[in-house]
Amino acid sequence: MTDVIIVGAGPAGLSAAIYTMRAGKSALVLEAATYGGQIINTPDIVNYPGIAHISGVEFSTGLYQQAKDLGAEVRFQRVLEIQDLGDHKVVKTKKEDYSCRAVILATGAKNRPLGLENEQSLIGRGISYCATCDGMFFRNREVAVNGGGNTALEDALFLSNYCSKVTVIHRREGFRGSEESLARLRERENVNFVLNAVVSGLRSDGKGLHAVEVQDRQTGRKWELPVSALFVAIGQEPDNAAFQELVRLDPQGYIMADESCETGTDGIFTAGDCRTKKVRQLTTAAADGAVAALAACEYIDRQG
Ligand code: NAP
Repeated sequence: MTDVIIVGAGPAGLSAAIYTMRAGKSALVLEAATYGGQIINTPDIVNYPGIAHISGVEFSTGLYQQAKDLGAEVRFQRVLEIQDLGDHKVVKTKKEDYSCRAVILATGAKNRPLGLENEQSLIGRGISYCATCDGMFFRNREVAVNGGGNTALEDALFLSNYCSKVTVIHRREGFRGSEESLARLRERENVNFVLNAVVSGLRSDGKGLHAVEVQDRQTGRKWELPVSALFVAIGQEPDNAAFQELVRLDPQGYIMADESCETGTDGIFTAGDCRTKKVRQLTTAAADGAVAALAACEYIDRQG
């Protein structure tokens, strides 16, 4: 039986694995996709204390390697269900069932879709949620970015290095993203802004996206903007539906827990972007990983 099973190999989950191993307990990390979580797609991390510049890939790989070197096991399997049997828990994946003393849910968050018709079928054919992954495919083409947060602004900056024109579509005048990124973006000659507007439709010609329908929120007027790609950057949402019987979720689907990372269900802890919190940053995810791991280890020791 493993001491702690950690669901998710993003910064919160891998930090939890590092702290669990250093506390002398065994850790198994189960991850549905790849390690690193959302940060792996960030070209340049500049706000992690003590590290002036590092790429998301380099940071994530370092974290993964550190956890493995300390003896944590990482398996790439999606967790489908967790059964709470009191003094132990059973974590079920498609391949195997695993028993453990405590669980840390560090499932992160996924990109929020626009919810438009054709959106899913156009993924990889003009719809993307990751500019750094897919931007290069649209070199010298006209593209749009939807959103007004840091992701949208950084995506637009990145794309403006390769694409002939980048249109930022945002539903308000004001931006959630940093003034610094916005100022840099405003200096780029190939970037323009469509504000107080939403993407209301996707136009495809069978091969892929060729235009987006944009609607002005004040006048209701709709028009077509010809683009080869739309980069959707309208925030994230959690993916905790599989655990709704196990822990309490808030109305948005985040796992309810405070800074102690305790969920209220004995032996189940949570860390990172998947929990209720005000600031979702790399630093707070890593911090949560440490807090949740130490709480889980203390819980196991208390149980004897
Ligand atoms: P975000 O900050 O939540 O911003 C989402 C943006 O999308 C907002 O401007 C929001 O508009 C808009 N939006 C939400 N739902 C929409 C919808 N249905 N239709 C149209 N627009 C919609 O998300 P994010 O930019 O992905 O950032 C997430 C977190 O990561 C933030 O804390 C951010 O600071 C952080 N981050 C940091 C860095 C960095 O420090 N380098 C880089 C990337 C992200 P409203 O503003 O009107 O709500």
